[in-house]
Amino acid sequence: MNAEPDAPEGRLRRFATIWSRAVYPVTSTAATRPEFEERLLPVARRLSEALRARSFDAEAGREAGAALVEAHCTDPEALSRTLDCVDAYLVLYCGDEDGDRETLRTRSARLQHAMAAGFAQALRERTLAEQEAIAKAALQAQGVVAQALHATETRFRAVFEGAAIGIGIADLDGNVLQVNGALTRMFGLTEQALLGRNVRDWTHPDDAPQTWRLYEELVSGEREHYHVEKAFYRPDGTVLWTNLTVSLLRDADGEPHYQLALMEDTTERRLLNLRLRYEATHDALTGLPNRTFFFERLEKALAAGPGQRFGLCYLDLDGFKTVNDSLGHAAGDRLLVEVADRLQSCATAPGEMVARLGGDEFVALTTGTDTRRTVDELAGRIMNALLAPIGIDGRELTVRGSIGIVEGPAGERSAAEVLRSADITMYRAKAAGGNRFELADPEADARAITRHGLTTALPTALDRGEFFIEYQPLVHLGDGSVRGAEALVRWLHPQHGVLSPDRFIPLAEHTGLIVPLGRWVLEQSVRQARAWRDANGGDALGPLRINVNLSPCQLTHPGLVQDTVEILERTGVAPDALCLEVTESALIGADDDLLKPLRRLAEMGVDIALDDFGTGYSNLANLRRLPVSVLKLDRSFTQSMQQFPADPVDLKIVEGIVSLAHNLDLAVTVEGVETGAQAEQLRILGCDTAQGWYYARPGPPERLHELALVDATG
Ligand code: C2E
Ligand code: MG
Ligand code: MG
Repeated sequence: MNAEPDAPEGRLRRFATIWSRAVYPVTSTAATRPEFEERLLPVARRLSEALRARSFDAEAGREAGAALVEAHCTDPEALSRTLDCVDAYLVLYCGDEDGDRETLRTRSARLQHAMAAGFAQALRERTLAEQEAIAKAALQAQGVVAQALHATETRFRAVFEGAAIGIGIADLDGNVLQVNGALTRMFGLTEQALLGRNVRDWTHPDDAPQTWRLYEELVSGEREHYHVEKAFYRPDGTVLWTNLTVSLLRDADGEPHYQLALMEDTTERRLLNLRLRYEATHDALTGLPNRTFFFERLEKALAAGPGQRFGLCYLDLDGFKTVNDSLGHAAGDRLLVEVADRLQSCATAPGEMVARLGGDEFVALTTGTDTRRTVDELAGRIMNALLAPIGIDGRELTVRGSIGIVEGPAGERSAAEVLRSADITMYRAKAAGGNRFELADPEADARAITRHGLTTALPTALDRGEFFIEYQPLVHLGDGSVRGAEALVRWLHPQHGVLSPDRFIPLAEHTGLIVPLGRWVLEQSVRQARAWRDANGGDALGPLRINVNLSPCQLTHPGLVQDTVEILERTGVAPDALCLEVTESALIGADDDLLKPLRRLAEMGVDIALDDFGTGYSNLANLRRLPVSVLKLDRSFTQSMQQFPADPVDLKIVEGIVSLAHNLDLAVTVEGVETGAQAEQLRILGCDTAQGWYYARPGPPERLHELALVDATG
């Protein structure tokens, strides 16, 4: 609302505006300038009324001064500007037109005086109030602080007393001054018994060498704290193990005064650790040190200084598997425990130890400067210890063992090398008939090194195209016709010449290279099958089938089905022209997950053959579960038919297997047929297909083609 400027209200407003503009910049109000003006307006009105009142009273001035303070115009500059403003404009804007100018000016002056006084008083009051508030707040605050301090002390005491950790304070001479409950409980002593004791009395034979040096450094002020694992004797003679932290306490001037010990009882944890360590380093069955522990000791022996030697006996029991298979695992276990006890009693001299590496494999180690002699004696003692039969379940079992001995100076070979050499030597002892010991010879080791060399050369061999495949025909026993061939891989090694799969397939399986290698063999052989078909002018001779061997690792490889399907599709070969050979041992105990890929392939029409049948111990009834359509009888059956007349029991066994297989709709292939007599015998027994040197040795693919043609035309 805009008042008429000349009307008294309008003039009052103008005065208030001028006043507010003058003072606003020096106020500390949170109000805006117009808001501030609104606050000044009633004050201005009071001044205006006082100016024109019939009987003058300066009280309005005092009130105006106080109002300024209340409006946060506490700065002296605000008062000065107000007085200037009132002096210049109050009479001008608020005086009556007809009033006495001189009287008005006098009244204005008195109002200004009163305003200054009112302002000063209000300001003093306000300051006092503020000071008081601050003082009160400070007092309150002090109270809070004191309370807090009190709380800290109580809390400290509570912590000291209630702590699970032992706390003790001693002076720098080592006299114990204060201990908490946890500490007395740890030591099994009363507080009284602990106070006054001296820290230096607590030496223990297991103290780490630096323990007391650190202590001296601390009490002499050279060190602020230290941390050690320390043992203490309890009054009952048991040992208390602690994690001990000792700190130096200095006074306000920085002078060392006390030592503060914090100790954590680690006795239980230590026992647990010792037990875990024991379990991790000992064999659960026999209680002997295990492989881990043995390796640690062997490594230590091999790292010993000049002049030090080691001797190692690597023992494997002969025929332990038979005990396990015929008498059961519980009996086998008892046998192992007895053997372990006997071995232990053979190696009791310092520097000697016996360990169980696993299964029926044990090692005995001797160290020192004269191990050439001591290791021989050790092996002799072991052989002797095994002589007496072991009684189990009322039976007297004769136990024999084969020992490989490695002896030599420390510092030349790694633990793994030594153990490998011992392992090879033990096998040599076994191969020589068992129940004996053999000494490692460098040549045998060299062969092992070759094995190592082959392993490392394998991956690049595939890239370099060093593998090739030979094909061995599969012949129908009824009409003698070639029905297909088995693909057998070979490695043309740049140094070693042609290597048979027995030399490198196990290595490839071990390193995982078997997967790409197997895929390569599969692809090459399927291509070859396609090439034979094309060369024969389609399927004129009936499709030549291709048999490819699969390793157990390939079975578990997720890409098997897809890889096989892709290869068949790429080459345009029908699935029923392919037969995958899987060894019996790979399928023993196979669960459904493992069989799934084979089942998928079988459903597509790929034949699955159970290779080397009769060498494992698979349950014949199990055959029904397997997605198998061909049994390949192992060569050992054929071999037993070499002499004439053949062993009638063997004949009966083969006859039984063949009839069982046929009942299950399985075709029977025999391997290793070397003579015509064998072939005839197997034909009479009902076998379907045969493979062997009698027909052809494995050879290049062209040969098979020729054989098949001869066969078809002849
Ligand atoms: P296998 O599958 O049982 O192959 C038959 C083995 O018997 C072949 O040995 C073959 O040369 C040999 N043999 C054939 N006829 C006769 C005979 O009349 N008398 C004798 N004494 N032996 C005969 P080879 O070629 O040394 O293969 C050995 C094994 O290597 C094969 O046994 C097979 O398990 C594996 N193998 C071969 N090629 C591959 C492959 O590509 N992948 C996989 N995973 N394994 C393969
Ligand atoms: Mg085979
Ligand atoms: Mg075989």
